[in-house]
Amino acid sequence: MAENFDVVVIGSGPGGYVAAIRAAQLGLKTACIEKGPLGGTCLNVGCIPSKALLHSSELFYKLTHHLPDHGVHVENPTYDFPAMMERKNKVVSDFNQGVGALFAKNKITQIQGIGHLKSPTEIEVRGEGNQVIETKNIILATGSEPIDLPFLPIDEKRIITSTGALALETVPKKLLVIGAGVIGVELGSVYNRLGSEVTFIEFLPKICPTMDEAISKSFQKILEGQNLTFHLSTKVTAADIGSDKITLTTQHEGTQSTLEGDVVLCSIGRRPYTRDLGLENVSIAPNEKGFIPINGHFQTTVPNIYAIGDIVDGPMLAHKASEEGVAVAEIIAGESPTIEYMAIPNVVYTDPEVAAVGLTEKEAKDASLQVKVGIFPFKTNSRAKCTGEEEGMVKIVSDAATDRLLGIHILGAHASEIIAEAVLAIQKKVTTEELANTPHAHPTLSEAVKEAALAALGRAIHR
Ligand SMILES: Cc1cc2nc3c(=O)[nH]c(=O)nc-3n(C[C@H](O)[C@H](O)[C@H](O)COP(=O)(O)OP(=O)(O)OC[C@H]3O[C@@H](n4cnc5c(N)ncnc54)[C@H](O)[C@@H]3O)c2cc1C
Repeated sequence: MAENFDVVVIGSGPGGYVAAIRAAQLGLKTACIEKGPLGGTCLNVGCIPSKALLHSSELFYKLTHHLPDHGVHVENPTYDFPAMMERKNKVVSDFNQGVGALFAKNKITQIQGIGHLKSPTEIEVRGEGNQVIETKNIILATGSEPIDLPFLPIDEKRIITSTGALALETVPKKLLVIGAGVIGVELGSVYNRLGSEVTFIEFLPKICPTMDEAISKSFQKILEGQNLTFHLSTKVTAADIGSDKITLTTQHEGTQSTLEGDVVLCSIGRRPYTRDLGLENVSIAPNEKGFIPINGHFQTTVPNIYAIGDIVDGPMLAHKASEEGVAVAEIIAGESPTIEYMAIPNVVYTDPEVAAVGLTEKEAKDASLQVKVGIFPFKTNSRAKCTGEEEGMVKIVSDAATDRLLGIHILGAHASEIIAEAVLAIQKKVTTEELANTPHAHPTLSEAVKEAALAALGRAIHR
């Protein structure tokens, strides 16, 4: 007889595995089906390996570019690329085991194979020894995959997606990156720091298109100062794949040019992954962009089948998927959780980092809000001066009528950590005055957040 569960989650990424743990915590008999290694895109080919390589390469770059400013000299520093990759692999495999241990601790049944829907209560698991399992509820959390270009066949060696970029065997001499979004800019930075000549071709007129305009411009300037080259408002229209080099044809304002590289990273975005899921068997139809439509309770058109994470609309971010994972498990258990989507932060883990939460200045104005803006540059922040991390700024966007904080944007060292107080402020609907009156330890980079709030009120102290 088929085994019967309260909840079966398909996909063990940060959406799926977190949903499974929360469901088990709530006393539901839970299983998670995964076709690959545990942890999904985030753990295996996304957030974690990219941040490991970003940190290793940043250490090398700082050694060669920043330590002399501090009077620290190291003779002829070198790096060992295979060792860097090996360390990254170890970080990933430790976490793979960690997710498995969490499943065991929470008594979650882990099933290896491809989950294929047979009916609203039956899932066929395809793999070694096919089986059918029965369940009262299903959570779809099958994530996303990179989008490719028809004329650029991915081989993950010379024409790569982010997955290939995280597993190269050697550092390319010339790396062409199609798409200057978050993933492209992060991985381009890794190879730039290790000595590649990195050139970006971006279709839109700005890098990291969802970023606040002032922050994006300033960020681009800083990256150009690190020798990254950007061709904006430029489209790649064709590729000539030679035996030792790849030539891309580009179009910019009606002018055709070519660019050559030995490796091309295609990072033009990601699309929801629902292949082999058997959606047709339960009459769930993805929308025109491939996302699975859901209601406010994460229910698909079949009430006991839920969907979360990258396969549903919204920012493709690990922490967004995890918040949804917790919420959907609680909904299935009869609770009424809410997610404040305005408070989902975005981070780019370059050097300096960029982190933002809430609305950009333009988004606030487009929503017909009267905005006031406060900017505080890190060059006048005492801690930044001490550490030599003076690039960037904090920008605060507030509602001029209510004083409520609408958006907080940080370009600077450790922005990924500093953003936490901004997230809490947006989540708790804090006013600019309340943030400005909050004590901040001195000397810290986070004082720049307080000063930006003061600047929005017209009373910054250190400017
Ligand atoms: C290079 C890179 C860097 C990134 N960096 C960050 C970052 O720093 N911060 C951040 O927040 N986000 C980052 N992301 C995005 C983040 O990885 C995703 O938003 C997140 O992983 C989505 O989680 P998910 O649970 O929806 O899906 P996924 O993590 O994609 O997991 C889906 C899982 O489902 C499995 N699966 C699919 N179909 C089936 C099936 N039919 N049966 C069984 N299993 C199936 C897949 O094998 C996969 O393991 C990054 C992404 C990339 C590519």
